[in-house]
Amino acid sequence: MQQEKGLVAQLMQALQCLPGVGPKSAQRMAFHLLQQDRQIAKNLAHTLQDAAQLVGFCEQCRTLSEHPLCSTCANPARDRSVLCIVESPADVYIIDQATGFKGLYFVLHGRLSPLDGIGPQELKLELLDQRLQSGEINEMILATNTTVEGEATAYYISEMAQNHQIRSTQIAHGVPLGGELDYVDSSTLSHAFSGRHEM
Ligand code: ZN
Repeated sequence: MQQEKGLVAQLMQALQCLPGVGPKSAQRMAFHLLQQDRQIAKNLAHTLQDAAQLVGFCEQCRTLSEHPLCSTCANPARDRSVLCIVESPADVYIIDQATGFKGLYFVLHGRLSPLDGIGPQELKLELLDQRLQSGEINEMILATNTTVEGEATAYYISEMAQNHQIRSTQIAHGVPLGGELDYVDSSTLSHAFSGRHEM
């Protein structure tokens, strides 16, 4: 039977749930948090608890939001005729920072992957279809990752757009094959965005 771990060890273990954090980094972080002013650790704990409890998904674009409509969807200055399709909420953030895109988004939370049981239903594509049906969208920009599954997803969604007579374009230039958007630098992404091609 495993012996119960002390709180310091538990903290180190818990921190390893973060991407890129191995045992060494977790150890450094744990000691950093506990050797500093304790208020810093308490603030972190409170913010984490509030975020975990209160942040949900925007009912329109499905990005992370603590309100029913996220700040992007609720912003009247955004161009409602252009819809950018991305795989993750992080992609929304990255594209907004890097490209100055002023349209709206739809977040898939993944990509089509029949072998893993991820089909159109899992990606809530019926929600996307409703938006395409609304008639306010003129162009759909596909910014899924350039993996095989990301490409297949883009193709599937471009056919949905076609059914509604909506033009679809895809970002491509300079985005490395198999590259996740997170790892693409902002000038490359900006170019990929402005140099998008018709599907
Ligand atoms: Zn939204």
